Amino acid sequence: MKAKRRTFIKTIGAASLGAMMAGAAGACVEQPSVKTRSNGKLSFSYRPYDLELTHTFTVAGYSRNTTPVVLTEIHYDGLVGYGEASMPPYLGESQESVIRFLKKVDLEQFNDPFRLEEILEYVDSVDEGNRAAKACIDIALHDLIGKIVQQPLYKLWGLNPDKTPLTSFTIGIDTPDVVKLKTEEAARFKVLKVKLGGGNDKEMINTIRLVTDVPLYVDVNQGWKDKNMALDMIHWLKEKGIVFVEQPMPKTQVDDMAWLTENSPLPTIADEAFQRLSDVAKFKGIYSGINIKLMKSTGLREAHKMITVARALDMKVMIGCMTETSCAVSAAAQLSPLVDWADLDGNLLISNDIYEGVKVTDGKIVLPDLPGIGIKKLS
Ligand code: MG
Repeated sequence: MKAKRRTFIKTIGAASLGAMMAGAAGACVEQPSVKTRSNGKLSFSYRPYDLELTHTFTVAGYSRNTTPVVLTEIHYDGLVGYGEASMPPYLGESQESVIRFLKKVDLEQFNDPFRLEEILEYVDSVDEGNRAAKACIDIALHDLIGKIVQQPLYKLWGLNPDKTPLTSFTIGIDTPDVVKLKTEEAARFKVLKVKLGGGNDKEMINTIRLVTDVPLYVDVNQGWKDKNMALDMIHWLKEKGIVFVEQPMPKTQVDDMAWLTENSPLPTIADEAFQRLSDVAKFKGIYSGINIKLMKSTGLREAHKMITVARALDMKVMIGCMTETSCAVSAAAQLSPLVDWADLDGNLLISNDIYEGVKVTDGKIVLPDLPGIGIKKLS
C-alpha cells in the first residue's frame, strides 16, 4: 500500500510542488498527496559540529582554522531532510545562539511539510535575526519535500542542470609563496576568487598571474576605505582580467559605494551589506548586483525570491556560501542554474565533510541526480 502511495505522490507531486515552490501564486495549489500520505508530524533534531579548514583562512579583518556549524534533520513519515547552519564569527551567530533559537521552534504543530510558506513564515516569526538558524530549518524542509516526491529541487523549480555555472575557488590573503602554491593547487578551477583588502592587493594579483590567466573574481570584504583609491584599483584590476569586485568598501559608506558603482568599469557586488529579500531593492543603483548566501537569506525560500526580484531590477546575481559541509553547499547549488556567477567552494575548504553531494567537474557545478538538495550522508 505504501509503495503505491509513493508512486502516486511521485507522479502528481513534481508538477504541483514545482508550482507551489516557484512563487506565491502557486501557493494556492491543493496538495492532496500529503493528506493521503500521513498523519505524522514534523519532528527535528540538531547537533553542533566543528568544520576543520584545510588551510588557515585569511580575509581582510581576520583569520581562522575552524568554522562552527549546527547540523539538523527533519523527520517525517520515515524520511529525513538534512539542513545546516554555518556561523562564521563576523555574522554574529554561534552554535549556542542557533541551538537557543531551535529550542524555541515547535515544528510538531505541523503535519504537512508541503505547507512550506506557512511553516517558514512561522519560523521567521519566532525571533528576529538568527538567519543561519532559520536557514538550517529551511534547507532541511526543502530536502524533505524533494525526498517525499523523489525529485531534486532543481527539477521542481524547472531548472536545467546543464546550465549550472562554473564555481570559483577562493584564494585567501597570504604571502606570495603561499598564494602561488594555493593557485597551483587550484588548477582544476576555471575561475578563482581572490581576497583583497589586506594591504598587498597588487602583489596578490601579480603572484596569481604568474601561475594562471583564468578569469578572477575579487572580494575586498569592505577593505578599501577611500573611493578614489578604490576606483583606481578597479581600473588596474580590469586590465588584469578581473570579472567583478565584491564588497569593495565598508557597507556603511553607501554614498561612496553608489559613486563607485556609477564610475566603475567592472560590476560591483554587495555581500556584507546585503542580507535578505527586503534588502534587494534598496541596493539598486548602489551595487551592480548581489551575492546571495543561504546563511544570510534564511535559506532557499528567500534566496529563490531574491533572484526573481534582482532580475526584475536588472541586477546581477551571484550565489555564494560560507564554510559549510556539502549539505548547505549542495542546497545552494540547486539554484545555481539561475545565477550569473557562483562561488560554491565552502565544502572544498574543509577536511571533515560528513555528506557527499554537488561535485565540481572541469570547474563546473555538477548537480547530483538525487532527490531534495541532492546529498548522501557518509558513514
Ligand atoms: Mg564576500
